[in-house]
Amino acid sequence: MQSGAENTPPKRRKRKPKFGDTRRLFASLREHLASGTASLADIARLVTEGLQADASVIYIARPGEILELAAVQGLNISAVGHTRLRAGEGIVGMVAASGDILNLADVQNHPRYVYRAEIGEEEMASMLAVPVKRAGRTLGVIGVMSREARAYTPVEVEALATVSMLLAELLVKAGATDIHEEGFSDTLPRRFAGHVLAAGIARGKILPYGAQAPIAKLLTDDPEAESARLDDAVEAVNKGLDKLFSANMPAGPTSRDVLEAYRMVTQSAGWLTQIRDAINDGLTAETAVDKVARALRDRMRRIADPYLRERLADIEDMVGRLMVALGGMAPKPERADGLLLLVRRLGPADLLDWHARGIAGVAIEEASASGHAAILARALGLPALQVDRGAVDTAQEGDPAILDAEGATLILRPEPAVVEVYERAVESRNQRAAALAAYRDVPAVTKDGTEFQLMLNVGLAMELDQLERTGADGIGLYRTEIAALASGGIPDVAGQAAEYGRVLDRANGKRVQFRTLDLGADKLLPGEASAGEENPAMGWRSLRVALDRPSILRRQLRALLLGAQGRKLSVMFPMVATVEEFRAARDLLEAEAARIRPAPEELEAGTMLEVPALLFQLPGLLAEADFISVGTNDLMQFLFAADRGTPELAERYDTLSAPVLELLEKLVTVCQEAGVSLSLCGEAAGRPLDALAFAALGITCLSMSGNAILPVKAVLVEADLNTLRPVLRELRRAGAAGGSIREPLAAWAREHNLAI
Ligand code: PEP
Ligand code: MG
Repeated sequence: MQSGAENTPPKRRKRKPKFGDTRRLFASLREHLASGTASLADIARLVTEGLQADASVIYIARPGEILELAAVQGLNISAVGHTRLRAGEGIVGMVAASGDILNLADVQNHPRYVYRAEIGEEEMASMLAVPVKRAGRTLGVIGVMSREARAYTPVEVEALATVSMLLAELLVKAGATDIHEEGFSDTLPRRFAGHVLAAGIARGKILPYGAQAPIAKLLTDDPEAESARLDDAVEAVNKGLDKLFSANMPAGPTSRDVLEAYRMVTQSAGWLTQIRDAINDGLTAETAVDKVARALRDRMRRIADPYLRERLADIEDMVGRLMVALGGMAPKPERADGLLLLVRRLGPADLLDWHARGIAGVAIEEASASGHAAILARALGLPALQVDRGAVDTAQEGDPAILDAEGATLILRPEPAVVEVYERAVESRNQRAAALAAYRDVPAVTKDGTEFQLMLNVGLAMELDQLERTGADGIGLYRTEIAALASGGIPDVAGQAAEYGRVLDRANGKRVQFRTLDLGADKLLPGEASAGEENPAMGWRSLRVALDRPSILRRQLRALLLGAQGRKLSVMFPMVATVEEFRAARDLLEAEAARIRPAPEELEAGTMLEVPALLFQLPGLLAEADFISVGTNDLMQFLFAADRGTPELAERYDTLSAPVLELLEKLVTVCQEAGVSLSLCGEAAGRPLDALAFAALGITCLSMSGNAILPVKAVLVEADLNTLRPVLRELRRAGAAGGSIREPLAAWAREHNLAI
C-alpha cells in the first residue's frame, strides 16, 4: 500500500457466499443488453455488484497504444475520459500489453503500480484485471477492486473473463472501438521455431486464417435449447473425428493408442462440462465454447511441458472443431498483399489461392518440407515455414512479423534492433543471390569432368521464366496437375494442348518431361472431397484412377500430342507400382499417338520411381521404359512408411542414410547396364549436400525447383567426385546400419569449401 493507505487501514467486510453469483451476474447483464441501452457504466456497476467488489474500472484502447478510462464504479467519475495510460504502463497497461490476467491481493505494492490521484483508488487493496480481447487484439481492460486484501477466486476470475469477452463483442458491435484501428495487440515479441519449407525472408503483417466468425448472439435465456445445439455440434464433431481418424491413421496398435489418448484427454479433461456450466450461466453455445477456448489458449501459453501442451492442443483442436460446427469460418479476404499468412494446415490449392491474393510468405503449423504446399511454395519462390504449434493462437491479426525461412523462425512483434538485423540479412542474401547468378552460364561440370544436367521442377506457365533465369538444362518434372489445381479444374483438350504447346515453345528445344495428372491424396481439386480412405496417399489416386477411368488420361495424352505439334515429346507416369501398370499407360499413349498428326519426331514414355515395389521389377521395367525419374518425396514415405506431410517425421528418416544410398547405387548400375536414362526429381535433388552425394553415386541428371539450381550448381562445379567417392564409401562403411552420413559428409564438404 502507498502512504495514504497505511494511514487508512482497509475496512473489513463480511463477504457473502459466492454460490450463484455468476449466474445472477449474467442474468442481469442479459436483461440490460436485451433492453439495448446498456452502457459501460452499467457494466461496471453490474460486475462490481455481481463479484461483490468495491469498485471497478473499464479502460478502452485508443489510437497510439493508449488506454483511456471509459467507465468506473465506486471511484471518481470525473476521471472518466481523462485518465490515460500507455500500453505497458501501470497494472492496467501491463495487462493490455501482455494479454495476461492479473489477480493481485496487494495491488498498490506491485512494482508496476502507478498511482493516479484523480481516480480515488487509495483505499483499494486488491485488484483483478482482465484484458478485453477480440480476434486476438486487445481492445481494453476491465478490472474490479476491493478494499479487502484478497486474491479473487477462480470462479470470480472466470466470471470477469466472461464479462470481458461480452464487453469485447459489445464494443465491436457498438463501434466504440474499431478493432483494426484502435485495438492493440500483445506488444511483447515472441519467437516460434520451426522448419524451413521454402527458403526466403519476408517482413509483413500477420494474417491469421481459420479464426471463427464473429458470434452473433452472446447470451441466452434458453439454456436448454443452447445445450441441445451443443449436443448436436458435439455429435457432428465426433462423427467428423471418426472419419478423420479412419482416413488418416494407419491401422495398428500404436495408432489406436494415439486415438485412445486423444479421446481420453478430450473427454476427461472436463472442458465439455465447463462449456455446459457456462451455458447454464446464460451464455449461448458458441460464447460458452469461445470462453473455454480462450481459457485453454491462455493456459497453453504458460505451459512449457511439451506433453501437456500437446494434450491441451488436442483439447483446443476439439474446441476449434466445435466452434466450426456451431458457427462456420470467416471467408477469405479478397486481397492479402504483403501479408504473412499464418495457418494451422494448408493444401496446395489453398496455397495457390493465397499466393494469387498477394501474400508475402506463409507459416504453417502442420506441414513438412516434402508436402505439396511446401513444394509449391518453393516453386513460387514464396518464403514458407513450418512453425511450432502455438503460433496461430498467439499471433494476432496485424501483428508485425518477420518470417525467417532461412533460420527457421517466425518472430512476432520483433524489436526494432531485430528488424535492423533482418534488413541487413536480406541485403546479404541479395548479395549471395548476385554471386550465385554468376553460375548461370557456367556448365554444370564437376572438377573431375563429369557433366550434369540440372533440370527444373515446375507446374505453372508463370514459372517458365526460370529456365532463362537459372540456365537450367530443361524441365525434368512438369507437374501437370498444378495448373488444374490452380484453375480449379482440368481444362478441356484444347486448353491443355495450348498449355503444353506453350511449355514446349518456352523450353525452346530443351528437354521437357511431362508428368501426367497426379491428383488425389493432398492434391484435391477445389470442392473435391477426399474419398475417406484410410490412407489416401496409398489410395485410389494418380495413375490408379487414370487406368480405372482412362478417359481423363486419354484426353490428357491427346492434348500432349497435339501440343507437341510434331516436336519431341516425353511423357512420364506417376505412382507406377507394377510393370503392367506402366505398360497399360504406355499403351494408351501409343494408341493416342497413332491417331494424332503430326506425329512427334520422337515419343518417349518414362516412369516415376516412387513405389518401392518397382525396385524389384527393374529388369521388366527397364525393358519397357525409356527413362526413370526417382521421386524421393513419395519413395521415402513409402520406403520408411513415414507420411510425407507429418512434420514430426520430417527429420526422422534421411535420404543420406544407408538404405537410400544403397538403393540408388544399385539403381544407377542397372540403369546404366540397360542403357535407360535415370534422373532424380524429388525435393532432395535441390539440397546441395544431397545432390553432391547423388552425384557421387552416379546420378547425373537432377531435377529441382528453380531456386535450387544455382546453389546446387555452385557446389557441383567446385567438387571433385574422384576425391569424394572414397570418402563417401568410407563414411558408408563406418556408419551404423540405417544411420545417416549427413553430418560427416557436411563436415567434409565444409572442409573443402563447398557451399552446401
Ligand atoms: C516425388 O514424389 O518425389 C515427386 C517428385 O512427386 P510429387 O512430389 O509431385 O509427389
Ligand atoms: Mg510423387
